[in-house]
Amino acid sequence: MTRTVYLNGAYLPETEAKVSIFDRGFLMADGVYEVTSVLGGKLVDFAGHARRLRRSLDALDMPHPVDEAELLAIHRELVRRNALGDGLIYLQVTRGAPEDRDFLFPDPEKTPPTLVLFTQAKASLTETAAARDGIRVIAIDDIRWARRDIKTVQLLYPSMGKMMAMAAGVDDAWMVEDGKVTEGTSSNAYIIKDGRIITRALSNDILHGITRAAVLRFAAEAQMQVEERSFTLEEARAADEAFITSASTFVTPVVEIDGAVLGGGTPGPLVRRLRQIYIDESRAAAI
Ligand code: PMP
Repeated sequence: MTRTVYLNGAYLPETEAKVSIFDRGFLMADGVYEVTSVLGGKLVDFAGHARRLRRSLDALDMPHPVDEAELLAIHRELVRRNALGDGLIYLQVTRGAPEDRDFLFPDPEKTPPTLVLFTQAKASLTETAAARDGIRVIAIDDIRWARRDIKTVQLLYPSMGKMMAMAAGVDDAWMVEDGKVTEGTSSNAYIIKDGRIITRALSNDILHGITRAAVLRFAAEAQMQVEERSFTLEEARAADEAFITSASTFVTPVVEIDGAVLGGGTPGPLVRRLRQIYIDESRAAAI
């Protein structure tokens, strides 16, 4: 089925949506993005994604293409036009397409930002093999730039990380800097030891996950112990349980870290409980 996508104010068949070769997203990765999940035709944590988009745009001095109400209307219209049940909405804003290639930012009065959104349908976001069986990760060096808190489209290294994982016969990679785990290639990373959930504190070193914020809130409400601190790869390999969070995978168990098998290789009870709480709460609050 041909998707209907959104480009700069127009709803178009995906084959007809075209962006200039001078677009700074294309030439310089000068763009930011968001991925919002859709459960049963409703948006999960839209307000959180809209807030982080504003933060990313402001951090890069990029103009805001539309306000939050308009953004919500576009998301909903794409869900409607594509009859989306479970799936994702990808959104990207770039600094637009000036007349020529230049390192300097173009005048925003003359060059409006480019805004693109499209849907990605999934059979189910909740019933997945990864959620049932858990995933296996390798450790790789984190060689990304120092502003990982800005959700830019510079995804070459995360993409290479996933290829390294595939070459190693596992599902994904966790990145390590100065001996400590930063995050997954496209997720936040957590371990559980003696009933305590441990995840790196927020800083410029990691993306401030929208799912992370919700999961830590739900964990606290369920009287689970949470420690926001860095942990080493050795600690991770000796953990009782581990998991990742992201808008597309929710809470997904990790059953092997760099060759060390956790919990006999099957998802543990705390992770399974947290995933269920996250899905129930997100479904109930989706708009
Ligand atoms: N860290 C990185 C590097 C990511 O790419 C993502 C997913 N976009 C996350 C964390 C998780 O963020 P969120 O829960 O907002 O999807």
